[in-house]
Amino acid sequence: MSQDRRKDWDTYFMDIAFMVSTRSQCHRRHVGAVLVQGKKLLGTAYNGAPMGVPDCSEAGCMIVEDYELVTAAGKEEMVKKQRCIRTIHAEQNLLLFTDRIDREGSTVYVTDEPCWTCANMLANSGITEVVFHRAYPKDSLKVSVMMAQKGIQFRLLEDYQPPQETLMTIQN
Ligand SMILES: [Zn+2]
Ligand SMILES: [Zn+2]
Repeated sequence: MSQDRRKDWDTYFMDIAFMVSTRSQCHRRHVGAVLVQGKKLLGTAYNGAPMGVPDCSEAGCMIVEDYELVTAAGKEEMVKKQRCIRTIHAEQNLLLFTDRIDREGSTVYVTDEPCWTCANMLANSGITEVVFHRAYPKDSLKVSVMMAQKGIQFRLLEDYQPPQETLMTIQN
């Protein structure tokens, strides 16, 4: 591969996050996250049930329904949404499997914008940057406000194409 076609670091690490996400067994969402310090990969994680416990492919997703306030065409509306709570989110698994010292000043690349709980935990984990690709509008506003308050760089990788083979059909 010629030098000018070489992947930039954002693409390189986000591609790895998408590769990692293919390990997920949840039919509803495949999320991957990687920890990067400098240009060194220090950890990888995906969303899944605790080790040794049946996962979504074996036991099915564990679905809960929530009402969510959605603004559509300037009108606020309560919409019922379903989500799977069987899994530990990728970002939380990443924190469980990495050391604090490796996280200080590090970057997390994650396929999806973190939910509120993950964002809160990331904010207290020592990391100083979060880069994501797919937006998660539900928590986006409060998460970006909190990241700004913490001084954590919070970047959407917009012009990015995930490797085709890492994308799954999501059941909604
Ligand atoms: Zn699931
Ligand atoms: Zn989360």
